[in-house]
Amino acid sequence: MSSEPERIKCLIIGSGPAGYTAAIYAARADLKPVILTGLQPGGQLTITTEVENYPGYAKGTMGPEMMEDFKAQAERFGTDIRFAYVTAVDFSSGPPYKITVDETKIIMADAVIVATGASAKWLGIESEQRLNGFGVSACATCDGYFFRGQEVAVVGAGDTAAEEATYLSKLCKKVYMIIRRDEMRASKAMVHRVENTPNIERIFNSETVEILGEKTVNGARLKNLKTGEESKIDVTGFFIAIGHKPNTEIFAGKLDMDANGYLKVIPGSTRTNVEGVFAAGDVADHIYRQAITAAGTGCMAAIDAERYLAAKGVH
Ligand code: NDP
Repeated sequence: MSSEPERIKCLIIGSGPAGYTAAIYAARADLKPVILTGLQPGGQLTITTEVENYPGYAKGTMGPEMMEDFKAQAERFGTDIRFAYVTAVDFSSGPPYKITVDETKIIMADAVIVATGASAKWLGIESEQRLNGFGVSACATCDGYFFRGQEVAVVGAGDTAAEEATYLSKLCKKVYMIIRRDEMRASKAMVHRVENTPNIERIFNSETVEILGEKTVNGARLKNLKTGEESKIDVTGFFIAIGHKPNTEIFAGKLDMDANGYLKVIPGSTRTNVEGVFAAGDVADHIYRQAITAAGTGCMAAIDAERYLAAKGVH
């Protein structure tokens, strides 16, 4: 362990839209925030290509560039941005709370904003990684528009997949749903909606062998799990909707979570069950999962932290 713990007012864990927005507000409120970026600085948007639905970018922008803009804005007001990873948190005593960084360094923080995000689950095949952002996506709301008038596929059979397929059906000529069992897991209402959408075709008992395409997606090879037979679909967009995983492992047993591991906040605020610890962005939101909503709750978290520290008399 390194020698002296560092004492700070406000620590932000995670560097997606929620983390950076919290940093912008916290820095402007003179909380002198330190932001720990995690292993994927910029978060999920750095693995997307174009972003066209973020207000203020009238002509659209690229996900990685947008996150560079967020970062530059946070830096402009004096945020201390560090490429570092939180390996343990201790909320059992304090505030200040003890945060272990990269297994060796200790930070003691009066307020902590958790913005560690969520990660889409992936199938784990090589072609999916290679074509990610080039036809492969885990967010129909973000990327569906690029495929209007085209044929696309959605993998998954839960509520998310059903929602994504329904959303895409309004933009696209045809939507295939690739479902690994002979039934869907989604709620009855969502299944009903899918069944009643003429341009959605469900392919049951099937898995994806390979997503095809050199530079961009131009098809997918599927295997029927019952017969072993292979088939090909001609699609230009390939959406993975097999669930998300909130990045909350280090908070297990320390912050209240729902059954899926998303942090619980007091409705209408970003307060967790631990005083002085706030949660913003996808880590506490399995419903909206948009950059703009993450940024919105990042702003809320900084304001909540600022008011909390003021009430505590921390200057
Ligand atoms: P779920 O875990 O509910 O569903 C995941 C789906 O992906 C399942 O159909 C599963 O198949 C399939 N799947 C998982 N791994 C693979 C794989 N490797 N290959 C192919 N298919 C795979 O996740 P969701 O994101 O859909 O939903 C998460 C939670 O959020 C749920 O509680 C859901 O109800 C809720 N939700 C609610 C919404 C709403 O109310 N509007 C909207 C979206 C989500 P299988 O069924 O065979 O296990």
